[in-house]
Amino acid sequence: MPRIALLTQHGKAQALQPLADRLGLELVLATGKNTDDLGTFTRERERVGSQLEAALTKARWACELTGARYGLGSEGSFGPDPHLGMVPWGVEIVAWWDAERGHAVHGVAQGGATNFRHRSVDSEAALRAFAEEAGFPLHGLVIGRPQEPWFDKDAADWAGLFERAAPAWATGELWVETDMRAHRNPTRMRMIEAAGWALAERLAVVCPACQAPGFGPVRSLPGARCEGCGLPTPAARAEVLACGACAHALQRPLRETVSPARCAYCNP
Ligand SMILES: [Zn+2]
Ligand SMILES: [Zn+2]
Repeated sequence: MPRIALLTQHGKAQALQPLADRLGLELVLATGKNTDDLGTFTRERERVGSQLEAALTKARWACELTGARYGLGSEGSFGPDPHLGMVPWGVEIVAWWDAERGHAVHGVAQGGATNFRHRSVDSEAALRAFAEEAGFPLHGLVIGRPQEPWFDKDAADWAGLFERAAPAWATGELWVETDMRAHRNPTRMRMIEAAGWALAERLAVVCPACQAPGFGPVRSLPGARCEGCGLPTPAARAEVLACGACAHALQRPLRETVSPARCAYCNP
């Protein structure tokens, strides 16, 4: 069975095994490079490059380290939702690399199903409330910031958490955030699995020109016309489907017109 390699320090094989099974590939773990060099959620290292670049770098490294033809890399990002900025939002990318063809494809999952949050708390009671909301101890917590003496990611139970937090109370407050590393965050693990499924669906469509897997939408084209005034709007009128292995691309129309609610002239 051909191999697909995964470079992870955070137990992501659990989330990506179903993808490997569906592709008919043997999942092997790559070791020998520290993925934290590409950035950590707790900012000891800032991420260099985009989320997609980080996922793809991990997939390429996995091939280099194992000699496998195929590699997988996963990278998450978390912040406020892109619509109103009111709720926590997660975006997971799983990248696939074919080292023989030099060809990349990726899948994305995103949504509000994340426990991502952070806060300053000033008492054990406030810490307990935050931790309960975050799903601790099933989900990990990070207390303190990297430069603080009580900075810690390893509390596994309530007693351990309160013991580690205790020195901070003398200063009046404690910074606390959810641990977004996959092995400490089962909610995130499920979203990585979903990104793996999105990738599998993408890989199932082959390029009509060169038969490489992963033919699909790469961007949308704005300019659907307003039903009220007829002017073009920022809403998508078509999407571009393209192949990552050859130059083949085509446009698929989505809609000619949209509601005046989407029009900058009718609904400024
Ligand atoms: Zn209009
Ligand atoms: Zn192609």
